[in-house]
Amino acid sequence: MKTFVRCGSLFTGRDDEALSGAALVFDDEGGIVYAGPEGNAPRRAKADKLIDHSASFVMPGLIDVHTHLAYGNAKSEEDIDLYSPMEFRALRGMFFAQKVAASGYTAICSPGDSGQISLSIRNAIRAGLFDGPRVMAAGPYLTTHQGLTDWYPTWIGVPETSIGKLVTNSNEAVEEMRRQVKNGVDCIKIALDGIQRRPDGELIAAFTQEETDIIVKESHRLGRKAIAHAVGREATLYAARAGVDLIFHGFDLDEECIAAMLESGSALCPTLTHPRNMVDFTQPHDPAYIKGRVGQTEQRYRHGVARLKKAVAAGVPFMTGTDSGFAITPYGEWHAKELELFVDDLGFSPAAALRAATEINAGFMTGGDEIGVLEAGRAADFIVLDGSPLADIRVLQDKRRLRAVYIAGKELRLADRPYDPRQVTDFALSNWTDLYTQARVAELGAGRRRLAAE
Ligand SMILES: [Zn+2]
Repeated sequence: MKTFVRCGSLFTGRDDEALSGAALVFDDEGGIVYAGPEGNAPRRAKADKLIDHSASFVMPGLIDVHTHLAYGNAKSEEDIDLYSPMEFRALRGMFFAQKVAASGYTAICSPGDSGQISLSIRNAIRAGLFDGPRVMAAGPYLTTHQGLTDWYPTWIGVPETSIGKLVTNSNEAVEEMRRQVKNGVDCIKIALDGIQRRPDGELIAAFTQEETDIIVKESHRLGRKAIAHAVGREATLYAARAGVDLIFHGFDLDEECIAAMLESGSALCPTLTHPRNMVDFTQPHDPAYIKGRVGQTEQRYRHGVARLKKAVAAGVPFMTGTDSGFAITPYGEWHAKELELFVDDLGFSPAAALRAATEINAGFMTGGDEIGVLEAGRAADFIVLDGSPLADIRVLQDKRRLRAVYIAGKELRLADRPYDPRQVTDFALSNWTDLYTQARVAELGAGRRRLAAE
């Protein structure tokens, strides 16, 4: 038995235009047998099923290559690393993976994880225990004292439950990678810089070029892709020269970095949504605002976008991802904002943004030749929209216009279950964002409050 989907418009991911009056046909296993003009479709047998989306826009399921399933919509790094047991994080991650899929994202890469959370979620979905997106999983970031995820003072160190694994030399890095690969990760995540700068302001790469080369070479020898977090120029350059498959951020890149990326074939996922949401949504009472991070982020974003545009013009492949999993980027909410920012801030056409989030992103994913494009031989992972994102890319963010999500030909039907966010994350022990001196209290007009009567 086959299933015929009548499509008002069909965007296959292969071309910039959508085809009107098209059909998508898939078999019982959810494999596409035909995608194209309805007139040329194979003949429909009596037993075949017909789904009528002739008033809708049909396109490949979206892919986000930067969604952290272990983070739990965290408000602080401590919440990511410390407070929830691993087992709770895995259950929470499964719940949120479903939220991501329900928003039209049929595949994600979860790059940087505590323990084996993302790969367990991947395996549970793959085994058919739960409905959810296809997951490409990394283990904990490889980091040094100069890298992301070594957040705490040296006398605390990097706890076992953290999203980072501190390595002190390339031998330790290789040992950790081999352990992760034995456990079943799809890719290796390297924290190639963090927040430490030289006195001149440049971000310091966490590994040397030589160490980076060793890590990337070993990850490729093990048949795994390498991802690097690299904001600074130095880390971006090291990553590109070493042939890291996917570089996150790259905000400080220069011509040398671009040339190295073109030479080695590194792709770039700038992850605009996280900093942009930081600027757009952070409120004056939020610690990030009080600590001046919003202003800093805005400035870095402006400069970053100007540099990234040069990489776009030079032909570096761009992929879409959001750093979802923080309180500023909750699961299932802002994944498609990245496409809007690709259009508004990087100058992509809507079609190019759609192809970045489907065809191009699929090129990075494990099993990527089965997804990302609607054509014979690939999986019927597709979404149905009321309205065309080619006309307005923001259609993708409007939940009311997402009519259906299919993964391997099966329609995803998940209850939109409400939950108490206070029991999910936000267990860090901080209480106040202000200092209540006598002068401050007077300024606030706070004084003593009348206690409630018994
Ligand atoms: Zn990230």
